[in-house]
Amino acid sequence: MRATLMYGAGDVRVENIPDPVLREPGDAIVRVLRSCICGSDLWPYWSMPRSEAGRRMGHEFLGVVEDTGAEVPGLKVGDLVVAPFVWSDNTCDFCREGLHTSCRHGGLWGGDLDGGQGEAVRVPLAQGTLVKLPAGVDPALLSSLLTLSDVLCTGHHAAVKAGVGPRTAVTVIGDGAVGLCGVLAARRLGAEQILLMGHHKERTDLGLEFGATDVIAGRGEEGIARVRELTGGDGTHAVLECVGTAEAIEIALGVARDGGAVSRVGAAQYAEVPMDFGTFLRNITLTGGVAPARAYIEELLPDVLDGVIEPGRVFDRTISLEDVPDGYRAMASREALKVLIEP
Ligand SMILES: [Zn+2]
Repeated sequence: MRATLMYGAGDVRVENIPDPVLREPGDAIVRVLRSCICGSDLWPYWSMPRSEAGRRMGHEFLGVVEDTGAEVPGLKVGDLVVAPFVWSDNTCDFCREGLHTSCRHGGLWGGDLDGGQGEAVRVPLAQGTLVKLPAGVDPALLSSLLTLSDVLCTGHHAAVKAGVGPRTAVTVIGDGAVGLCGVLAARRLGAEQILLMGHHKERTDLGLEFGATDVIAGRGEEGIARVRELTGGDGTHAVLECVGTAEAIEIALGVARDGGAVSRVGAAQYAEVPMDFGTFLRNITLTGGVAPARAYIEELLPDVLDGVIEPGRVFDRTISLEDVPDGYRAMASREALKVLIEP
């Protein structure tokens, strides 16, 4: 089959690799119908050291079950399924606590396993990992359903961890796909005021349609001042940091209301958070982390199926599998917001 491999910074290739086969009784083989490129795929695209073997890419996919092992009672050939970006048994103590990303038996796609950016995937622990979607679903919904793999659940996780609910004011830092899904999630959870910080107009326009009440294009001190101006000087209860840079976390702390929470989902690329004594005196909570997408899919699925939310609108470009290298280039250069792959 054809699949995507990364050999180093800027070096993405689509190559022939062996077809996936069942190895364990808990495996399923899924034929990929939709996949995509993640903002987090750009970190290795910019910095990955040279690798002779190459790294299999992709962790977001939706497809059709093509084969199952003997221990996958809940799925049959032909089922439409979505895969979260971490595979898990859905039964261990961490999974039962809703922390599937810490599953005692789970792991990440790619590496020695198949990635989502290919024609098919061997899914370990398929019974726990895959979520079955209704048969005969409108094909127009597939792109929104694909966001359950990662980006929608990640935005939702940011909002949940920050305690977003009715009457809360929220700042979302970043107008990438995760930030926009953070806006969607905050709105869905009833936030009263949603301030979106970003400076790509076509993206922040989508953010306004997703429920942002204001857009703040200014960065740094100017952006912080604007958030404070819009919140009576106080800042917001919840801050969703959806960028992952040192500058973003500094802004996040600057716009948080005393007693508020800063929730990080931007795949933090910094090692230190400047939580000095002044921050201590303000009782700021630092939270967030990798999103246990599997824990949220059932909750978010009905609103996607009913069209209450349309997270698939974050995809602004659709490509074939052979064009994946160009898809990386387009996302890295900010030419595309998020690239959908139809193998
Ligand atoms: Zn588990």
